[in-house]
Amino acid sequence: MSISQLARQIKESPTLKLNEEALLMKERGEPVINMSAGQPTNKAPITAILGTAAQLKTAEMKYTPVDGTKSLKKAIIRYTEENYGRLPAPENVIASTGAKQSIFNALYSILNPQDEVIILAPYWVSYPEMVKMCYGVPVIVTPEDGTFHPRFEEIEQAVSSYTKAIIVNSPNNPSGVMYSESLIADIVGLCERRGIYVIMDDIYHKLVFDGRQHTPAYRYTDRDLEDTHIIVINGVSKLYGMTGTRIGWAIASRKLVEVMTNVQSQITSSPPTISQAAAEGALTGMQSIVEHLRLTIQNNRDVILDELRSFTDVHVPRPDGTFYCMADFRAYTQDSVELANFLLRKALVVTVPGKEFGMEGYLRLTYSGGVKEIIEAVERMKWALDPNAPNEIYIGDRKMVRDWM
Ligand code: PMP
Repeated sequence: MSISQLARQIKESPTLKLNEEALLMKERGEPVINMSAGQPTNKAPITAILGTAAQLKTAEMKYTPVDGTKSLKKAIIRYTEENYGRLPAPENVIASTGAKQSIFNALYSILNPQDEVIILAPYWVSYPEMVKMCYGVPVIVTPEDGTFHPRFEEIEQAVSSYTKAIIVNSPNNPSGVMYSESLIADIVGLCERRGIYVIMDDIYHKLVFDGRQHTPAYRYTDRDLEDTHIIVINGVSKLYGMTGTRIGWAIASRKLVEVMTNVQSQITSSPPTISQAAAEGALTGMQSIVEHLRLTIQNNRDVILDELRSFTDVHVPRPDGTFYCMADFRAYTQDSVELANFLLRKALVVTVPGKEFGMEGYLRLTYSGGVKEIIEAVERMKWALDPNAPNEIYIGDRKMVRDWM
């Protein structure tokens, strides 16, 4: 069988794979706890369901305009005005089948072969793979000081004449940290000086804790949407618990949106009609649902930090947002893949190896589930690894005795 060199290099999405594995184990009746899922557990907002139902009732299941229905785009424009302080024209907006497709469209539309894209570690697993799929070169900047906050000087040094874009995801998957305002301001300034795009992946922008607020990158430029190099990505997956709806969007200059629309027209055409109605319902309905989710997840963050604090030699930087944290297990092993497999086999807890995010020796833990699950998952992990934890534990209704220490 002949497979292209490029396709052969593309890794499977490890987070989706783990999620599927956890689902299968659950179906087999195993008491598995999934700390790998990148999605909140809440139901979709009622307005999303009503929007979907109204669309279904028309029995119109036709293509829509490639860049999204007029009414969804209107809802996105209103959302952008309210949350970003900028009023895009409809021509500045393209809705896609998930923020994932929005990011891919943007990269495909700006990259020539061998162009470089700067990615800040720890990073979302899909960025480097998407860059490679566009024949580009991912350039990873890893903070030298061991924190999850890249230093501006490190980013500036990574810029070359081939650099086309910097991807910024803050609050960040997987670390949960939010970059400082001055870092964002410096990155925007650098990109505008050098004619580089800055792709702001804002998919978690409202899931921010402790009274802090996400600041839109637009705040750091006087240029209008046609001249700025900022590409904003957002979607309904994380804020509304609608990951399966598959609606995301991009805001950019008219010229770039036109090209992205051409690209999308040749790949998926319009996003699914029903999903667009669902997303519109979520965006135009009561927004208190997002605040409710934020508060629940902030409480979960506090719980997981408390639990991990009593885990011998495990360190975890305090997340400012998202529903992830990156815990440092290097005192136990440098091999995060082996560690994640060990925890799955012994403790029936699914985690994601830090290696996938460019941080070996760490595990990404998701705290979007229930408090009880979070506490039990950490207790099981302690039992599997921490010599100071009790030797016996109940997993489901089975009493397990640790015999490997
Ligand atoms: N960006 C980041 C940082 C993400 O974590 C995810 C989902 N895991 C996405 C984008 C993709 O979101 P969507 O479901 O809208 O494709």
